[in-house]
Amino acid sequence: MESARCWFSKFRSKDKARPSKKKEVSSNGKEGIKAPSSEELPSNVTKQRVAAAKQYIENHYKKQMKDLQERRERRDMLEKKLADAEVTEEEQSNLIKYLEKKETEFMRLQRHKMGADDFEPLTMIGKGAFGEVRICKEKSTGHVYAMKKLKKSEMLRRGQVEHVKAERNLLAEVESNCIVKLYCSFQDEEYLYLIMEYLPGGDMMTLLMRKDTLTEDEARFYVGETVLAIESIHKHNYIHRDIKPDNLLLDKHGHMKLSDFGLCKPLDCTNLQEKDFTASNKLSGALQSDGRPAVPRRTQQEQLQHWQRNRRMLAYSTVGTPDYIAPEVLLKKGYGMECDWWSLGAIMYEMLVGYPPFYSDEPMSTCRKIVNWKTHLKFPEEARLSPDAKDLICRLLCNVETEALGQRVRTK
Ligand code: ADP
Ligand code: MG
Repeated sequence: MESARCWFSKFRSKDKARPSKKKEVSSNGKEGIKAPSSEELPSNVTKQRVAAAKQYIENHYKKQMKDLQERRERRDMLEKKLADAEVTEEEQSNLIKYLEKKETEFMRLQRHKMGADDFEPLTMIGKGAFGEVRICKEKSTGHVYAMKKLKKSEMLRRGQVEHVKAERNLLAEVESNCIVKLYCSFQDEEYLYLIMEYLPGGDMMTLLMRKDTLTEDEARFYVGETVLAIESIHKHNYIHRDIKPDNLLLDKHGHMKLSDFGLCKPLDCTNLQEKDFTASNKLSGALQSDGRPAVPRRTQQEQLQHWQRNRRMLAYSTVGTPDYIAPEVLLKKGYGMECDWWSLGAIMYEMLVGYPPFYSDEPMSTCRKIVNWKTHLKFPEEARLSPDAKDLICRLLCNVETEALGQRVRTK
């Protein structure tokens, strides 16, 4: 009897959990619809799914309407041009037919869902925290692209999903010659794929490792192009936050483009506060009580060799190098677009001196130097920087408050 009761109670509780479709008989004996209890209301997950589906459908139709409108505009424009030009009616009709054929082809291509199978992967050209970058060839056209393959579980684990979405959207939205073009993106169970234009000139990190230092003229060219790139993303209210030589790529003409948006690999300083940075001054090259440096000073040449030995390892490590990160980003105080100008200052210093301004054997020690940058920003005599170059670097590597007055972007 007891076990039967138990079995029955299980049945009842299950029954309770299920949304009831029963009609209720009200006190006046009439049938009525039962008011939904809190258990029957949709959960937050369901609400989010509904909102996402609504957004998807809206976007889909908005895009369809926009495409149709643009197609009409293209045809109108062609008709106008043909009316003004001296062409026979037969030629006019042929050209309009040709346009329509191209439009249909374009729509068919758009409908085709791209996937990893459409590309033949070739040489690997980069490896990072989330996956790899490979040269690849589109099977149907033979066109060559760079394919960035990001492991979804890794992005989830690091809470970078929103970041990656923002990156993809920005790349798809911004039309600029200074940033790497994104052609399409797709995903499978395990990976997210970004198909980008392939830049065969390598990255600035490799160039700097090969050349030790650049002349001021060479640096002026690359710094100028980086300014244009940074400006073009800031115009879209986007902060890169991870500008470093590895993310500056060179095209086949030697022009530079910015890449790797939003996939920054921030050094985890969450448990460090400003006072921790200052208290450990000694570790980062400050003087001891007897006036000697706590860490023996290296010559510029020694520091350069040390940096070059470590460089690739730092680039491929999961935390990345903190050398170009602005102090306010490290301190997690809240930051704005100015942090990208700081990074440019650090890169310009490296171009002319051979290693970045706050380089240290330990990444944590580099972070401390950055936060205490006023004590640590020094220009080695041997590097022979011109006063103008020093001035520009100092106007980029400065306090964030100064930027409010236009200092971080001002040049002489
Ligand atoms: P990560 O997030 O791993 O830093 P990146 O997008 O910076 O990924 O790519 C890593 C490296 O791959 C770059 O430093 C560069 O050498 C190479 N790379 C990335 N994108 C391209 C591209 N579009 N063309 C050529 N090389 C590229
Ligand atoms: Mg990168």
